[in-house]
Amino acid sequence: MNSSILFKFVSITKKPTVTLSTILVVFFLIGCNHNKVLVKNHQHEQLNDKHETEAHHNKEIFYSLPGLKHGLMQSPINILSDQSEKGEHNVTFDFKDEINNVQNLGHTVQLDFEPGSTVNVDGKIFEFKQIHFHTPAEHLIDGITYPMEMHVVNTLVGQAEEETTEYLVFSFLFKMGKENKFIDEFIHLIPGDKNESEDISTGAVNLRNLVDYDPKHVLNSYFYYKGSLTTPPYTESVNWFVMNTIIDASPVQIQQINKIQGDNARRIQALYDRPVSNK
Ligand SMILES: [Zn+2]
Repeated sequence: MNSSILFKFVSITKKPTVTLSTILVVFFLIGCNHNKVLVKNHQHEQLNDKHETEAHHNKEIFYSLPGLKHGLMQSPINILSDQSEKGEHNVTFDFKDEINNVQNLGHTVQLDFEPGSTVNVDGKIFEFKQIHFHTPAEHLIDGITYPMEMHVVNTLVGQAEEETTEYLVFSFLFKMGKENKFIDEFIHLIPGDKNESEDISTGAVNLRNLVDYDPKHVLNSYFYYKGSLTTPPYTESVNWFVMNTIIDASPVQIQQINKIQGDNARRIQALYDRPVSNK
């Protein structure tokens, strides 16, 4: 065997040796990296736990469990139509449909009513105050979450200042469909900056354009229950009328409102044997 042959032999035999040791080193490194990944994942989980604890702590402010801090009549709820009982309310309107202001409150878009529009429900008179939006919807019907919910907020007329304000809220759920004329009337008027408001001249924005028929017909089918405000201080003095007619708004309109206010829906709360009636 001359030296060149020897060299060839060595180089031939060495090649697989190098390759094998390289493979072993690679496997070893992969093994180490895998362990590192596991450690990293573990650390990540710990971080996640920390974040979740913090998030849970924050949620305590906004999403306290009913019965622990806010009583047993919290809103919103998942309305189970099969488990609701027939029950009608006597509702008559003295509604002027005068909206005079639109506000970008950061956490919601709000429209204000000119004073003087009222609704009589079972002999109690409530005054129209404001309209605001939630994206996605807060109330669920039979477990279905809609992309948007609109609250028309009214307060009982003639209450003493020290009394807990009694509310009546008409809630409208939206699905993605055709463009909504009412939303179209004000969406370009919403101020771009948070906490800014814009005056609206009477007649420019009309709630009656929410549907292309007489909006009173929406009241032909609704769910009623007693609950709370869905924002702090979660006061349990709200008469909820959740309309069973789902209103159309275009995907773009819903996205535009969501872009301003973000996701601002409170999670559903336990019913705790409260009766839900339907018409
Ligand atoms: Zn609301």
